[in-house]
Amino acid sequence: MDEQVLVTGASGFIALQTILDLLEQGYRVRGSVRSFDKAEQIRETLRPHTPMADMLELVEASLDHDRGWAAAVEGCQYVLHIASPFPAERPKDADELIRPARDGALRVLKASKAAGVSRVVLTSSMAAIGYGWGKNRPEPLTEEHWSNPDELKDNTPYARSKTIAEKAAWDFVNSAEGEGLELAVINPVGVLGPLLGKDVSTSTQIISQLLAGSVPRLPKLSFALVDVRDVSAAHIRAMTLPEAAGKRFIVSDRTLWMTEIADILRKAFAEHAERIPEKELPNWSLRLLANVNPPLKNVLPELGKFRVVSNERMKSVLEINPTPAEVAIKETARSLLDLGLV
Ligand code: NDP
Repeated sequence: MDEQVLVTGASGFIALQTILDLLEQGYRVRGSVRSFDKAEQIRETLRPHTPMADMLELVEASLDHDRGWAAAVEGCQYVLHIASPFPAERPKDADELIRPARDGALRVLKASKAAGVSRVVLTSSMAAIGYGWGKNRPEPLTEEHWSNPDELKDNTPYARSKTIAEKAAWDFVNSAEGEGLELAVINPVGVLGPLLGKDVSTSTQIISQLLAGSVPRLPKLSFALVDVRDVSAAHIRAMTLPEAAGKRFIVSDRTLWMTEIADILRKAFAEHAERIPEKELPNWSLRLLANVNPPLKNVLPELGKFRVVSNERMKSVLEINPTPAEVAIKETARSLLDLGLV
C-alpha cells in the first residue's frame, strides 16, 4: 500500500497501538514526537510486536509551536491527530491544557489543508460529550451531545480542553479556510487494554493502583470502558470509510462501577487479591480527602453517577463489535504485571 499516514503523539498509549496496526496493514507510517529523545524507545517498544517497527518514520513537532508541522504532513493522504495533553494531575491553570489541545489541533488541521491531506481523524473524547450538564445529563449520551466547557462545576480542565479543541476543529473544517478538508472524530470513553511498552497512560492508572493496593477503599465511581485495540480500529476505519467523514464516533463497550472492576481483577489475579479492596468509600469521605489531595478533585463531579453511553454508531457505521470490558481490564492488568509496572 502506498498511502502515507501521519500519527501525532507517537509515544502515547493509543498512538502506539494505532501505529502498530497501520504498519501491519501495510501503510507507510510517520509519527510525530515532541522530541527525538523518544524515537529509539518508540521503535524498541514496537519491535517485539511487528517486524515493520523500523519502517516507522519519526518527525519532531510540538503542539505548542508551528515548527515542524508542514514537514510532518507532507505527502500524507491521512492524518490521525491523537496527541493532546492527558495528565493525571489537575493543572493550576486550565489554559495549560486548553492551549495545546486547541491550538495544536488547529496547527495540524491548517498544515493538513495546506498540504492537500484528504482526511484528518481527530481523537477527541467522551469528555467532549458528557460534562458540564449538571443534573440534566442525557441518557444515553450520544454523538449529538456536547459538553458545556463554560460550566465549571460539573467539569474538569481536561474535559474543557477536549471540548474546546474538538469544537475548534469542526469550526475550522466548516469555515472557508478549511473547505475541502474532511474531518472525522473519535470520542473514546476510558481506554484500557494491553500496554505495548512502559509508557503508561493516565487511563490505565486505575488498574495499576488497584493491583498495587494503593486504593484502600473503592470510591463510588463508574467508568465506561473500551479496549485500545478497538480505539485503534475505529481510527483506521474512520480514516478510510467514505461515510465516516463529517461524523463523530463514541467508542465504548459498557459502563462498570469501580467495585465491579475490582471484582474482576480479584478473581482473575488471585495472587494480588488481598491487596484489591472490596469495600466502598463513602462519598463524604472522598470529598474530605480531595481537600488534602487535589488530584482527587477531578473525580468529584462523577461521584455516584452512572454514565450511560451509546455505541450504536460505532457498531453500525464503523462495524466494530466492542471487545468486552472484562477482557480489556484483565489484559491491562496482565501487561502491567508482565512489564514490571506493578
Ligand atoms: P498518552 O498520555 O499516552 O499520550 C498523549 C500523547 O500526546 C503523548 O504522545 C504526548 O507526547 C502527546 N502530547 C501531549 N502534549 C503534547 C504537546 N504539547 N505537543 C506534542 N505532543 C504532546 O495518552 P493516550 O494515548 O491515552 O491519549 C491519546 C489521546 O486520546 C489524547 O488526545 C487523549 O485526550 C485521548 N483520549 C484518551 C482516553 C484514554 O482513556 N486513554 C479517552 C479519551 C480520549 P509526550 O510523550 O511527549 O508527552
